Amino acid sequence: MIALLGVPLDKNSSFLTGAAMAPPKIREAFNSDSSNYFTESGIDLKNSNKWRDLGDLSLDHGDSHAIIEKAAAGALQAHEKLISLGGDHSITYPLVRGFWSRYPRLSILHLDAHTDLYDNYEDNPHSHASPFARILEEKPETRVIQVGIRTSTTHTRRQSSRFGVEVIYMNEWRDDHRFKFDGPVYLSLDLDALDPAFVPGISHYEPGGFTTRQVLSIIQNLQSNVVGADIVEYNPSRDVHGMTGMVAAKLMKEIMDQMIRTK
Ligand code: MN
Ligand code: MN
Repeated sequence: MIALLGVPLDKNSSFLTGAAMAPPKIREAFNSDSSNYFTESGIDLKNSNKWRDLGDLSLDHGDSHAIIEKAAAGALQAHEKLISLGGDHSITYPLVRGFWSRYPRLSILHLDAHTDLYDNYEDNPHSHASPFARILEEKPETRVIQVGIRTSTTHTRRQSSRFGVEVIYMNEWRDDHRFKFDGPVYLSLDLDALDPAFVPGISHYEPGGFTTRQVLSIIQNLQSNVVGADIVEYNPSRDVHGMTGMVAAKLMKEIMDQMIRTK
């Protein structure tokens, strides 16, 4: 069974806020009468008993990271898999910590324009620019593959080699690439991995990214046991006619499809 969880947090964004508004907007796009609930392989998600929606976390009071970690761990006691809707990318660190309670060894496939490996960004160690540094400090043995990267600095390149991250820079990407993982996989999907032409509703426009179809193909071709995923950095305040919400909902549908089809 797959659980779906909204994580409306954007206080760790470095440039613009707005991502906290994303989870209800993604659900709205998913439920839009302009489309239907079928995945491309033919699964009817409306009438599927393979997933359930846990709603959105309440993060107005208390330690948001502790709340997120506890919620993920709790969801994974009752469900085999969890898809989280951000929120900014800072949520991935507490989410992955929650996953470790059920899956102590997790490989991470991270799609993003940015490596999010900053040791410390603007004096916030929990910045959305840093989650993978925190993850790799805590469990250095974690295999992390980053794809779509096109903003690396001298510092983040140093961090990539320090942590042994496998980086496939955007200018090296080939569509026939196939990923191979041993054991369970966590897919972290920052919408700015896509070209801003496809996702105007994001905070950081980095030209030269993936098409929607390329990201769908990456998801659909994953032969691995994807037990977790997040879709982060959708910023509805920047969106045009909700089109980025539709992209996020589409990616969510195909991630669910992959999770249902693959053991
Ligand atoms: Mn990111
Ligand atoms: Mn990014």
